[in-house]
Amino acid sequence: MFSPLIDQLISALRILPGVGPKSAQRMALNLLEHNRDGAINLAEALQQAADSVTRCEQCRTLTEQASCSICANPRRDRSQICVVETPADVLALEQSAMFSGIYFVLLGKLSPIDGVGPKELGIDMLEERLITEKIEEVIIATNPNVEGEATSHYIAERAKKHGIKVSRIAHGVPIGGELEYIDGSTLAHALSSRREV
Ligand SMILES: [Zn+2]
Repeated sequence: MFSPLIDQLISALRILPGVGPKSAQRMALNLLEHNRDGAINLAEALQQAADSVTRCEQCRTLTEQASCSICANPRRDRSQICVVETPADVLALEQSAMFSGIYFVLLGKLSPIDGVGPKELGIDMLEERLITEKIEEVIIATNPNVEGEATSHYIAERAKKHGIKVSRIAHGVPIGGELEYIDGSTLAHALSSRREV
């Protein structure tokens, strides 16, 4: 319908979550009609991020540095490690300002049907850290849905083998609620009323 380059841009935009054909078309035309500079900035930002962002060597969160700012911060309490599914969950917990420990970011949850097992989630790497570092408590903050609970259970079993205290954040959180959408005070409460598992 449009010229090949415009069609190409529209189909490229459709990889974004929640963007259907109509929105992709609107975005493409808007950029081309009104905002060429913005379009070039966007292209450059995407290129740079896609080329340079990798995973923190310690916690696996997304960063372009070897260690993310939290892992590199000497003031963080290294006796508590909080396991979350995504970098957005780290941000949500940081905004609640209730946690001063370190994180481990799975970048997913166990889902055998999609080929996501312990290896894909870096759980061996987590276990290695539990063995070699002075971690006293693993706080599991995966989401309270079926996969999140299965992931939590699996990690708890692996951690308990090494005699480490394991707790699960309390979920005053709606079932299936994604951590990143929960307000700070609810999250702070969930963290402070965590239960040992
Ligand atoms: Zn890190």
